Amino acid sequence: MRVGGRLWLVMRASRAAVAAAGLLALLALQPEPARLVEAASARAGPHARALVLSSQARRYLALQYRSYPTEFMGCMIGEISGNAVLVRRIAPADVEPAQSTATHVVPKQTCEDAGWMGTVGMIHSHPTGERCWYYFPGTQVASSDAQSFARQPYAVDAIMCGDRVVWISRDMVQQQVPLVEQRQTAPPRSRRGNRVHAGSAATSGDGGDGGDD
Ligand SMILES: [Zn+2]
Repeated sequence: MRVGGRLWLVMRASRAAVAAAGLLALLALQPEPARLVEAASARAGPHARALVLSSQARRYLALQYRSYPTEFMGCMIGEISGNAVLVRRIAPADVEPAQSTATHVVPKQTCEDAGWMGTVGMIHSHPTGERCWYYFPGTQVASSDAQSFARQPYAVDAIMCGDRVVWISRDMVQQQVPLVEQRQTAPPRSRRGNRVHAGSAATSGDGGDGGDD
């Protein structure tokens, strides 16, 4: 997703001012995005440390990724259990075809408005598998994807990057989970309908390929 950078700067400046003054009254002066972040943060509860993708979610992502030369977008439906976000299935987000390019995708409406309840976050793809980060490597500079996440109400956000899913929760710590289950760990049996496979949520060192977002 790509959005204007100016908004983010305004937001950062405003947040810094709030921190410095320590005055709740200043909250009223914040532009909308900062208030959204805080609201979402409160709603999401504990910060997620693991993103667990069901088999359906993995299949859907692999298939979509193979099928589209432009960015696709999905609604991750599931639940938050302690520090883990369990993604049971992924539903298509409502995207205007013109709003999906090789480097950009914007939903036409929210997942809820599109009819998907229980969305814990959105996921979009980077068809070339590049620039899969929320912060430019080695910096605190937010990418356009981090800026988009800041304006969303969901607990987590994710980027489908071919062999891995890079994701972030409200603590803004980027993590990643391999798309293909690792052989060494036997998939745990879920008592309920969907089989959920535990993905090891490794913190991303993210070597990166120095692309420009
Ligand atoms: Zn992106």
